[in-house]
Amino acid sequence: MSDERAFFECLTDWQKVHGRHGLPWQATRDPYRVWLSEIMLQQTQVSTVLDYYPRFLQRFPDVQSLAMATQDEVLALWSGLGYYSRARNLHHCAQEVVERWGGRFPSTAQALSSLKGIGPSTAAAIAAFCFGERISILDGNVKRVLTRLLAFEGDLAQQANERVLWTHAQALLPAKAAPEDMVAYTQGLMDLGATVCTRSRPSCLVCPVAALCEARRLNRETDFPVKTRKLVRRTEAWYMLALRRGDGALRLEQRPSKGIWAGLYALPVFGAEDEALDAAKACGADTQRAVFHEPFAHDLTHRALILKVIEVPVASPEALADPVGGLWVSGPQDLAVGLPAPLRSWLVECFQ
Ligand code: SF4
Repeated sequence: MSDERAFFECLTDWQKVHGRHGLPWQATRDPYRVWLSEIMLQQTQVSTVLDYYPRFLQRFPDVQSLAMATQDEVLALWSGLGYYSRARNLHHCAQEVVERWGGRFPSTAQALSSLKGIGPSTAAAIAAFCFGERISILDGNVKRVLTRLLAFEGDLAQQANERVLWTHAQALLPAKAAPEDMVAYTQGLMDLGATVCTRSRPSCLVCPVAALCEARRLNRETDFPVKTRKLVRRTEAWYMLALRRGDGALRLEQRPSKGIWAGLYALPVFGAEDEALDAAKACGADTQRAVFHEPFAHDLTHRALILKVIEVPVASPEALADPVGGLWVSGPQDLAVGLPAPLRSWLVECFQ
């Protein structure tokens, strides 16, 4: 594009008047708060983050308090936000900031991106918002805006093309940009992608950069971004064994530290009904009285899970009284642990 300065100015002027203001993480330049919001906003709607963000900050007001928490505490507060590796990385990153950086986040995108869970776009967002660094973000929404603006034909399924787009994104920045303008520009890119240049029906008539947009000129707005690799989601049935004691308590186990729901508490999972019933028998449970609950679905990025809970009464749970990583829960008061959202809903209903 020939007129970088015009793009920068149109976007910053528009953001100041029409962009999103008043979100709780916009009123601060504290890298801890900005970082937390950026991580929460990855793959999660703003409306959901608005609910979690203040609660998280109330419990962990600064990076030191987060670093000192246990992983279980962090996962419990994250419960329901999904993509739990974000919470584990968040915790790890807080510890790194305290141990390696004396409790202060580094001030450049390059140093920020060396921290656990902070990718290049998140690092750029923190550096631009908190330190006014002249650097461009490139998250999913921004890729859409820029590929349309430039009519960028490269297939973003290939990393080399993404790197080229990043070079363009950086080249769009004027040689000199005041720190406060970098804040408005970065927020403007995010806001334009979220509210105007949307996936299937971009609102080009009200777009502040329509006059500069190549895709608009070619009448090919929704041809961009080009991405050939399609997500393949396979369906998988999970048999979840709910051992129920005489007093109504159910047994949860902590999931392995890698894979789906890593580190969270869940009912033990089996790949087949027989396996679940055999495990129940091995615990002395009465499988003749097994109850097969209505299955429910839960979609993950690459898998569609069908969750089938088999509830079996267990008469003598002594052998399970103190299982490694196990936990008996007997009501909503016991659910303040990290739980996958669909299982939490099921348990809450179950204890009503
Ligand atoms: Fe997106 Fe349309 Fe604006 Fe181009 S003119 S950036 S396609 S909203």
